[in-house]
Amino acid sequence: MSQFSDVSFDGLYGAAIMDHFRNPRHRAPLGDADIAAHEFNPFCGDEVTLRAQLDADGRVFRVSSQSQGCSIIQASASMMAEGMEGKSAAELAELSRLFRELMQGNDLPAAALAQLKDLAALQVVRRYPVRIKCALLPWMALEEGLAELGRAGGAG
Ligand code: ZN
Repeated sequence: MSQFSDVSFDGLYGAAIMDHFRNPRHRAPLGDADIAAHEFNPFCGDEVTLRAQLDADGRVFRVSSQSQGCSIIQASASMMAEGMEGKSAAELAELSRLFRELMQGNDLPAAALAQLKDLAALQVVRRYPVRIKCALLPWMALEEGLAELGRAGGAG
């Protein structure tokens, strides 16, 4: 697999994206999972498998985010996994909402950007509108996983 990004971003945001692309976090597989989903985008071959375990308080304590495809989905999947740690289902839904707002071109207040941490870097993807889908694919998996968790009656 190539270690070179197919798009180039400069500055701090670009550096954060390349760091997550080259050294993706939370790629180890995970067996049992409370949140599990898989998404595939035939447009560019992007693929993501998300699995997460919740603790007794319903917070993420272990997450596995395995992605394949372009640099953007791999960076987004890695950053999302990091951002998921310690969060409850409601907090994950809020994080996902904020990230979608950012990718839709809305300027978020400083407090919201602080909540997104490294994920804020992905706003540079807005320069490549057709690639926004790549950044959102892991989040579709998260939202699907959360919806199924809800249907299953929640974590207790
Ligand atoms: Zn892609």
